[in-house]
Amino acid sequence: MWPVEKPARLAYLRVFSQIAGDAMNAPITQDVLTIPRKLPEGGLTNIVGLTREQLRDALVEAGTPEKQAKMRVGQVWQWIYHWGVRDFAQMTNLAKDYRALLADRFQIVLPEIVTRQVSSDGTRKYLLKIAGGHEVEAVYIPEEGRGTLCVSSQVGCTLTCSFCHTGTQKLVRNLTAGEIVGQLLVARDDLGEWPVQGAPKDETRLISNIVLMGMGEPLYNFENVRDAMKVVMDGEGLSLSRRRITLSTSGVVPEIARTAEEIGCLLAVSFHATTDETRDKLVPINKRWNIQTLLEALRDYPRLSNSERITFEYVMLDGVNDSDDDARRLVQLIRGIPAKINLIPFNEWPGAPYKRSSNNRIRAFADIIYKAGYASPIRTPRGEDIMAACGQLKSATERGRKSRAQIAAEAG
Ligand code: SAH
Ligand code: SF4
Repeated sequence: MWPVEKPARLAYLRVFSQIAGDAMNAPITQDVLTIPRKLPEGGLTNIVGLTREQLRDALVEAGTPEKQAKMRVGQVWQWIYHWGVRDFAQMTNLAKDYRALLADRFQIVLPEIVTRQVSSDGTRKYLLKIAGGHEVEAVYIPEEGRGTLCVSSQVGCTLTCSFCHTGTQKLVRNLTAGEIVGQLLVARDDLGEWPVQGAPKDETRLISNIVLMGMGEPLYNFENVRDAMKVVMDGEGLSLSRRRITLSTSGVVPEIARTAEEIGCLLAVSFHATTDETRDKLVPINKRWNIQTLLEALRDYPRLSNSERITFEYVMLDGVNDSDDDARRLVQLIRGIPAKINLIPFNEWPGAPYKRSSNNRIRAFADIIYKAGYASPIRTPRGEDIMAACGQLKSATERGRKSRAQIAAEAG
């Protein structure tokens, strides 16, 4: 059984590894890929992103006998998520008639790559088109022996963090579970990361980790994010363990316990300030759930999800939140919570109302945290030359943007 005809598959892999090799050496390239893909059409159900239960129900509804449904789910699931097949005709362990039935009722639709930019450091930023013509971005960050895909959960964001480029774009809509899973499938296609039957098993994964740190607030799109992560974590398919998935939230307190219970992934929190006064300005959701309320919700998280430490993200803004007093307050506040603090040098964007703290300031801040007993890695900005770094994502074509005056007012 061979998911894609062998010679074609090998040619495909060769082409992609050549692209990958060239791209790593090239400075900045922007190319438009021409992989033809359909956007969803009325009537056909997109299989991508359905949970096992949803897929089972859909298959039964399409005429699959109840008794066979579980087995059929497993087979279709493996083709799509383990082998990366996109065409029912290639699902060769299913009878021809059944493949035809699937093709009549279902489709396998992924976001369409509009542009792919490759940074001089190897980071890849994908601009993806989804149903309705909207665009979102996903970023692949290769590292030594591993690689992380940064995934979006919404088109834009309803929140208005004053230092975040995405926050200047009005929310257009939530992504579906299929569009969230689709970002991973598209990136694996682009990297040529599907197993080849018979070839020696390669244990190093190009995409070994996922961070929900792209566009949007994942906890304002909870059900779709949860369902997408269920698909991603399933051992018969993409098979990424919950410990390799990190969800970043600005602090949507009522959904934090649910994240532990229903997803169980690692949690990162956009903390960014040590007084309510400053956090109100930087992360306005703080006016709804303030620092104390947030910390209470976080104290329970590791116990509920049996997870590792919580990551406290802290963007370093010159003269705003980067003093020695801030560092000392920060360690006081989080005392008792298993935590690591991730210092993010501010990634500037055109018109941003802040400046990045100096390297010396960041180091001094990190030192105080370190001496208090916390790991305090300083995040190396990746893909800066293509505006792919944290908080810089904003689709170029969504024109509904806030005015400069509004951004400045929100920044206080
Ligand atoms: N909405 C979620 C996840 C997306 S943002 C959240 O806010 O947590 C991912 C991380 O990038 C967050 O910690 C966010 O605060 C941070 N960030 C946003 N804009 C940034 C910028 N310009 N420079 C550095 N980090 C930024
Ligand atoms: Fe939205 Fe996160 Fe940006 Fe805040 S930092 S505006 S929550 S994407």
